[in-house]
Amino acid sequence: MIEYAISACLCGSNVRYDGSNKVNETCKKLYDEGKAILICPEVMGGLLIPRNPSEIRDGKVYSSVGKDVTAEFHNGALLAINLIERYPTIHTIIVKESSPSCGLHEIYDGSFTGKKIQGNGVFINEIPSKYRVLTEHELTQITL
Ligand code: SF4
Repeated sequence: MIEYAISACLCGSNVRYDGSNKVNETCKKLYDEGKAILICPEVMGGLLIPRNPSEIRDGKVYSSVGKDVTAEFHNGALLAINLIERYPTIHTIIVKESSPSCGLHEIYDGSFTGKKIQGNGVFINEIPSKYRVLTEHELTQITL
């Protein structure tokens, strides 16, 4: 049964800005066992692989070369939520920490200097409150 939606990069998909992934074995196990769907709001919003990294500044999202990609981030977030809503058995969304889309609790500060601040990614802010949202570092809260 599908119970989870997971950031695709955590399950080994090479969807990050640099074409890499951030595989997490627990997330991959959930996916391999058929318990999860994958979402990547940035790619779903039309951004390419590879792409310039992006960060949030003053409520908008900019790539490292100064392109405003706010619309792509918002569109991708809404498409990801629409997909998740098609699976009524999903109760938990597992996300990649610090991402300008998927980051929960903290994100980069918009200066592209590696500094983090408190905040959420664009996708996180669109997630309905009925879902539990965890980062890959909070998976001990899941009984597998
Ligand atoms: S948008 Fe989310 S799923 Fe896609 S690469 Fe970034 S952190 Fe991973």
